[in-house]
Amino acid sequence: MTKPSAARTPSLLDCLVVGGGAAGLVAAMYLGRYRRNALVVDAGASRLAKIPRSRNVPGFPQGIAGSELHAKLKEQALQFGARLEQACVDSLQVLDGEGFEACAGERRWRARFVLLATGACDIEPELEGLASALQAGQVRYCPVCDGYETQGRRVAVLGRGEHGLREALFVAGFGNEVTWLALQSQDEVAAPHLERLRERGVRIAASVPRAVRCLPGRGVEVELRDGRVLAFDVLYPALGIIHASGLATRLGARGQEDGQLLVDAHMQTTVSGLYAAGDVAVDLNQVSVAAAHAAIAATAIHNRLP
Ligand SMILES: Cc1cc2nc3c(=O)[nH]c(=O)nc-3n(C[C@H](O)[C@H](O)[C@H](O)COP(=O)(O)OP(=O)(O)OC[C@H]3O[C@@H](n4cnc5c(N)ncnc54)[C@H](O)[C@@H]3O)c2cc1C
Repeated sequence: MTKPSAARTPSLLDCLVVGGGAAGLVAAMYLGRYRRNALVVDAGASRLAKIPRSRNVPGFPQGIAGSELHAKLKEQALQFGARLEQACVDSLQVLDGEGFEACAGERRWRARFVLLATGACDIEPELEGLASALQAGQVRYCPVCDGYETQGRRVAVLGRGEHGLREALFVAGFGNEVTWLALQSQDEVAAPHLERLRERGVRIAASVPRAVRCLPGRGVEVELRDGRVLAFDVLYPALGIIHASGLATRLGARGQEDGQLLVDAHMQTTVSGLYAAGDVAVDLNQVSVAAAHAAIAATAIHNRLP
């Protein structure tokens, strides 16, 4: 617990939203429409920016680029009075009396409630030209999002143990040709799981990749230590994800090992008054899930405000 500092004490917001990606902006739009005094503080690294074109966001049958969706969500939040500031919040404290204080360097904000919408980060492979390969759809992180578009194509899944195997099995459900780049971890998984993989026609490349090259317009080439060179149209790294929950866990909020926060049915974390929405609080990382979380959390916060 921290006493509010006397010098230049900022006025008390109804809600501080940390993170201005899909979840944070939808929450800000709801809070604005509830006529609440909400501020979004955003570090500017939404995963939306990495989506070349999403085809599973409801309401966009022709698909929509992540950057365009981000701009539309921002416009909608601002339209209803939400305010936005660019900064990376580096600390969050519970105040003695009521609410929270957040800081980003010298900047401070106080709020009755905080909604954490800080998202998650994919663990990226070491790969030359990763950014352009992502934009070209040659490297992808989310088969839930775009597995459908791999039908009839050669697909590699790069990941260790049970996690890599589960991802390979999932990807193999889209009528494509899948190879699991197992990083020599295939012996770590139970025999029945390997059998399922074989039944689905998934090949296993046991040898460790020596180099992975993205070939502009021509997919991905994987050179293995045993000398073979494999060619794919699409590579899914399945190296894990880190939920950006440090601000909450440092306050004592409970989460899983990978940082995914525990929340109740109203999206409140185990710290009273601290809510979470979007990728930081779920393993089904989807825009529609983030939006639903945001609507639930914003409404719960509104109902608790005087
Ligand atoms: C390549 C790729 C393709 C995808 N394709 C799809 C798709 O087709 N369909 C789909 O539904 N989903 C897709 N997703 C997932 C989707 O992007 C996420 O589920 C969604 O963006 C989650 O929203 P969010 O608000 O939780 O996190 P984000 O949108 O990532 O926003 C989090 C924000 O919080 C900010 N932040 C973090 N820490 C701080 C801090 N301390 N202070 C201030 N700000 C902070 C970040 O800078 C960021 O702006 C894809 C993701 C990737 C990477």
